[in-house]
Amino acid sequence: MPYEPVIGLEIHCQLKTKSKMFCRCDNNAEGKEPNTVTCPVCMGHPGTLPVANRQALEWTYLLGLALGCEIAPQFNFERKQYFYPDLPKAYQITSQTTPPIVGGYLELDADGFRSPTSKDAQMSDFGANEKKRFPIEHIHLEEDAGKLIHAGDYSLVDLNRAGTPLLEVVTNPCFSTPAEAKAFMQELRLILRYLDISDADMEKGHLRCDANVSVRPVGQKELGKKTEVKNMNSFVAIEKALEYEIKRQTEILAEGGKVTQETRGWDEAKQKTFSQRSKEQAHDYRYFPEPDLPPIVIDGNNKSQMTNHKQSFDLEELKTQIPELPAEKRGRYQKDFGMNEKDAEIFVGDMDLAEYFESAVNLSQRSTLGNSLTLNVGKKIVSIILTDVLGYLNANSQHIADFKIKPQDLAKLAEKLELGEISSKIGKDVFAKMADSGKSATEIMEKEGIHQVSDKGELEKIIAEVISANPEQVEQYRHTVGANGDSPILNFFVGQVMKASHGQANPAMVNEILKKML
Ligand code: ADP
Ligand code: ZN
Ligand code: MG
Repeated sequence: MPYEPVIGLEIHCQLKTKSKMFCRCDNNAEGKEPNTVTCPVCMGHPGTLPVANRQALEWTYLLGLALGCEIAPQFNFERKQYFYPDLPKAYQITSQTTPPIVGGYLELDADGFRSPTSKDAQMSDFGANEKKRFPIEHIHLEEDAGKLIHAGDYSLVDLNRAGTPLLEVVTNPCFSTPAEAKAFMQELRLILRYLDISDADMEKGHLRCDANVSVRPVGQKELGKKTEVKNMNSFVAIEKALEYEIKRQTEILAEGGKVTQETRGWDEAKQKTFSQRSKEQAHDYRYFPEPDLPPIVIDGNNKSQMTNHKQSFDLEELKTQIPELPAEKRGRYQKDFGMNEKDAEIFVGDMDLAEYFESAVNLSQRSTLGNSLTLNVGKKIVSIILTDVLGYLNANSQHIADFKIKPQDLAKLAEKLELGEISSKIGKDVFAKMADSGKSATEIMEKEGIHQVSDKGELEKIIAEVISANPEQVEQYRHTVGANGDSPILNFFVGQVMKASHGQANPAMVNEILKKML
């Protein structure tokens, strides 16, 4: 009997607010001594009072609005109670049962699931450009716990992370392959970065995910018994852990067994999941509304109000803060610059590169160039970035942020190439020197004595020599020439002229004069 997997994700995103969720401690404790970024509030001392971080609340709504979710008319902070050494209060403040954000979805390009390395990708049965929607169940805001450092036969507690604001995005059980789940995580990461609310770095734990997996016979409507897999530290790990778990559960069912509902950990070294906690040991958290924090209410004017609180914020205003999101950017790049999906993704996936590209395009001298030429310069900038810039960065292990050529200088180079002021061969040379020195194309060309031969008389002299040196080809040209002076052999002459001029002849002028003289 064929089986199919069902996956649902619980994704934790660490917000990059200045201070922690309920106290004034620095929210960035990276590299700090353990327990030095703490205070009585985040250490859970009795009698302390939490104050909600306004920025974290705003960003919660910002993400909800960006994903087209519904804003709940009211949400409560609540206590989720359990005992663990990294949680000195013995409860976590969350909003899981009365979340601020509900519904919504992420729409992904089905092509994205077909990464060539993924076996499962072949299971997705989509045509080109098809989209699939992955519904979001809710998004809630909560605080993180501290960290345990296991040191042999004892453990140490570090509370620097305690009280860090987290947004948890809970999806429906809507993914049918590990590749889909991974694509969702990657898109969410990009959106968090575009909104500038989280570094969303998985390796650093800013973005974490618990993956719920079940398997059922194909055709069965009811969901199978699920396991929840934790401790995956990369996108590859998510995919591998899900693949492993699907295989494990499928084998159990195929042999007539039953899957045990439990929490399982991912062992990166063994590339296996292992049982951590069974359902019988599951907690009863006894949620109840946090008495020290007022409910947050959205009033009729779409303003969010914290009852008993002076602060309020305007959701309509927040909407205007949403930047162009990755999906829109992809569409625009394809439409305006004729990029294919793969190229558009290279730009959209790297915000710094997209920004560099856009400032180069904006700085190319629109006013002095005709419309169609401006478009060509835009496309030229795209191709220079994709081949020369990325090639250079790669070869020199640099990131675009370290790149020496300023966007306006790249735009100028693209213009020179497009206007035929320099040949593509010289363009490559000039580019390499620009990238090494940070100087402009004009500066390089002056310094190196590279000049474009655009002098008509000088070009006519070179061309006359080339023509008299190749009588046979001239015959051929005369037999094959079309109405506008074109002929398959014309390029031969262009090549000869470029060679004779050491690549410095203005290609546009060479074409024109050649046609006339031939
Ligand atoms: P729990 O009661 O274990 O917390 P929830 O219903 O709250 O489970 O769902 C938690 C996550 O598990 C959600 O992302 C949801 O989509 C996913 N999920 C729930 N049931 C299943 C299932 N049978 N198979 C796969 N994922 C599931
Ligand atoms: Zn604190
Ligand atoms: Mg649940």
